[in-house]
Parts: sequence; structure tokens; C-alpha cells
Amino acid sequence: MITLALSKGRIFDETLPLLAAAGIEVLEDPEKSRKLILPTNQPHVRVVLVRATDVPTYVEYGGADIGVTGKDVLLEHGGAGLYQPLDLQIAKCHMAVAAPTGFDYARAIRQGSRITVATKYTHIARQFFAEKGVHVDLIKLYGSMELAPLTGMADAIVDLVSTGKTLKANDLVEVEHIMDISSQLVVNQAALKLKTAPIRRIIDAFTQATPAAAA
Ligand code: ATP
Ligand code: MG
Repeated sequence: MITLALSKGRIFDETLPLLAAAGIEVLEDPEKSRKLILPTNQPHVRVVLVRATDVPTYVEYGGADIGVTGKDVLLEHGGAGLYQPLDLQIAKCHMAVAAPTGFDYARAIRQGSRITVATKYTHIARQFFAEKGVHVDLIKLYGSMELAPLTGMADAIVDLVSTGKTLKANDLVEVEHIMDISSQLVVNQAALKLKTAPIRRIIDAFTQATPAAAA
């Protein structure tokens, strides 16, 4: 049995065409079913639905053999014990620093001021500001980071941006592009040794179906 960990929403939706390329069809719609384990047309392949932030953990501990996870989630997790063979070029967005229009971020940085930054992505934020030599106090949040500067709790946020609409709606502007984000295929190292052929088949099919490989 090969178990693939996916999260509902954009990652599930954008992984479906890759699975199709591997001849795998998920037999139930996660938006309609309450099941957490979904069968596929291949009796030896199943999908487990987990929270996006839990995908690397399931694969690390063998709850799943392979998984699809955002680079953001992977960097926060640390990637320990995970083989990362492929950038799937799906669920693309970028990580950015954003601040209220009224906050002169560039000036604060120039002056070496200490700034307060709210984020769900504390590892990425800490590393980014450390490399820039900026002193930050990080506030860990789990949702709606845009609210933190609006309430005066933080000077800026570190968050994922795709269209920029959410930032705009909350009078925030992007002041730093930290990194491009896309989703990665992650594989449990022990599973790869024990089930090499079926896992390789999936990696190869995904590679073929990924834009970078086609170019
Ligand atoms: P939850 O909604 O359960 O708190 P989540 O926000 O991490 O979890 P999703 O919204 O499904 O889950 O996002 C999954 C992944 O999709 C992210 O980790 C990121 O890599 C990618 N992604 C692409 N665009 C965006 C975006 N605009 N906002 C958030 N995530 C995005
Ligand atoms: Mg979300």
C-alpha cells in the first residue's frame, strides 16, 4: 500500500492532474465526503487528508509514504527525515513582508530600529531578518495576520501573497519579497527503500507532468 498525504483545497485540486498522469484517480470528492482516507482506482494507492501544516509530519513519521506540501510549510517544519525529490510548481505564491501604508518600513530598517512582526512563519521570518541584520520581535499567530498591524499589535507581517487583494483590502503594502513558494513532493526515506518501485513510478510520472520537466 502506498499512502499519499494531501491537504484539502488548492493542494488537493492541483495535485489531481499529477495523479492522473500517474494513472491514479481519487474515487471520492473530499469536499463532499467526510472520510479522511480516500480510495483510488489503484487498490494499492490511497490518499489521506490532513491539515496542510501536518503533511510533513505524517510523512516524517510514516503515517504517509509521500505527501505534497508548500515550501512554506516545509521550511517551518524543518524537513528532517524527508526526501524532497521534486518541486511540483503548483499552488504558487510568494512569501512577503507587508506593512501598513502609514509605516515607513524602509526608514525603520535604515535607522536600525527594532520592529515588531506578526507571522505564522516564525522560522522563515527569523532567518530572513537575521540575514538582513534587522532586529525583530516576532509575534506568532495562527490566522489573519493582516489584523495585527491594524490593531497596533505589530509594525509589519510576514505572510503568503498571491494576488495581493487581501493586503490591499487591509491597507497593507508589500515591502519585501522574501521568496517564491510552490509545493514540493516529500517522501519518507524508509518507505522509499522498502517500496522503491511504486514510489519511483509516482515520482517519475509527477516529474513528467511538471512544467519544469516539460520545458
Ligand atoms: P489552513 O487553511 O487549514 O489553516 P493553510 O492556510 O496552510 O491551512 P491552504 O490555504 O490550503 O492551507 O494553503 C496550502 C498551501 O497553499 C500553503 O501552504 C501555500 O504553500 C500554498 N498557497 C498558495 N497560494 C496561497 C495563498 N494565497 N494563501 C495561502 N496559501 C497559499
Ligand atoms: Mg488557508
